[in-house]
Amino acid sequence: MSPSLADLTIRQLQSELKAGNISPVDIVNDVIKSIEDKDSEVGAYLSINSEDAITNAKEADISKPLGGIPVSIKDLINVKGQPCSCGSRILKDSYTSTYDATVIKKLKEAGAIPLGRVNMDEFAMGSSTENSGIQITKNPWDFESIPGGSSGGSAASVSNGTAIASLGSDTGGSIRQPASFCGTVGLKPSYGRVSRYGLVAFASSLDQIGPITKTSEDAAIILNTIAGKDQHDSTSLDSEVPDYLQSLNGEIKGLRIGMPKEYFTEGIDSGVLSSVQQGIQTLNDLGAEIVDISLPHTEYAVSTYYIIATAEASANLARFDAVRYGNRVSDPTNIIEHYRKSRAQGFGEEVKRRIILGTYVLSSGYSDAYYVKAQKVRTLIRNDFTEAFTKVDAIVSPTAPTPAFKIGEMSNDPLQMYLADIFTIAANLAGICGISTPCGFTTSDNGKKLPVGLQLLGPALQEATVLKISDAFEKSTDWHKQRPKQI
Ligand code: GLN
Repeated sequence: MSPSLADLTIRQLQSELKAGNISPVDIVNDVIKSIEDKDSEVGAYLSINSEDAITNAKEADISKPLGGIPVSIKDLINVKGQPCSCGSRILKDSYTSTYDATVIKKLKEAGAIPLGRVNMDEFAMGSSTENSGIQITKNPWDFESIPGGSSGGSAASVSNGTAIASLGSDTGGSIRQPASFCGTVGLKPSYGRVSRYGLVAFASSLDQIGPITKTSEDAAIILNTIAGKDQHDSTSLDSEVPDYLQSLNGEIKGLRIGMPKEYFTEGIDSGVLSSVQQGIQTLNDLGAEIVDISLPHTEYAVSTYYIIATAEASANLARFDAVRYGNRVSDPTNIIEHYRKSRAQGFGEEVKRRIILGTYVLSSGYSDAYYVKAQKVRTLIRNDFTEAFTKVDAIVSPTAPTPAFKIGEMSNDPLQMYLADIFTIAANLAGICGISTPCGFTTSDNGKKLPVGLQLLGPALQEATVLKISDAFEKSTDWHKQRPKQI
């Protein structure tokens, strides 16, 4: 198959546009054609919005920062006039967004075109996109493997060359982990850096929207557009947004990068470990100083997260009562039955499990033992990072302990699935930023190449630091340039 404009980065397309070699309509047409040619196998898209996209492309102003660039959008970010199902049967075919999320408003103002909705684990709960109530999404590198989750459709679309870039959301790893499984770049901004207005809430104290892209440079371009204070989200931070592109100067000499000993223990796949170690060596060769550090409360991160996230989810998902939002059953005999049957029918297993767990940890008599205690442990985890960042500028680790696993391999073992986020979850609890960038490959049982991601964590609001390091890494490696060649 001949190379398509859909395989290019935002930066490459911008130079082609400026040189007059292509038009925004060419880009949108190529992306739509790639989706038609390649997405039936992978299943990243839930819907595409071709007509509007072509109209927008005809009017696009290429002097704007994202003029004429189409972007795929995770199915829990509201785009006015488009369906928003959060990967759930409870909303499927019944909800159309009545407004733009702030990130969408900003993307549109910068000239970008929201082209289609991409699949996800239902309400962002999961690590494989298998919890989608709508369809399975496959990993473009190996159709027998999952793309990661919950932003699996975002990562798969960028990796497969059916999206230029995508917006995802990360509550415990959902941008970084699928980015690593699909060989793309995924940036989770610090809590409050990007407005959550118009993002359907899973766990409000942890959720952040961020880009999944082919390079860190593209992630910086998108962050430049979406970051900043928003009067519609009181948790968005009123802190100046630097020009993130300016930090990408390749200069990482003298930066101190910490290796937490708790993140390099047994249980990491050997192929993942060797790629990450080689990646760390590259950072060292580029002049960064690698420092041993400790994050002593790491072992409590997963359990703390699953108390706080489920507690918040149980409250946030109350709105899907089939009165305000959600498909309703046709013939309930009374209002209680209406709620019970509509929710029982509309929500999938994992969502129900979490609502039950979250309600339990908040219930009177138990909340001190679970919810309140988890909040205290969260402070200890946050303090670990504050302490570490007095010694280092950033922290390096694998993004996930394994490469993408097989479809169905973990679906009956939720605890095992929860451990897929062991290295990503603490950043959300601490509110800091993190990025995953490709650092190598390992081989799956069926002989397919599977990408490995290197995670870099930075202090709150220091996205410029992690972007600078990952960009320097990408400039001296070519892992991020490799694309799956299945079709
Ligand atoms: N996998 C984690 C979970 O299931 C994180 C999900 C996310 O970041 N949205 O909760």
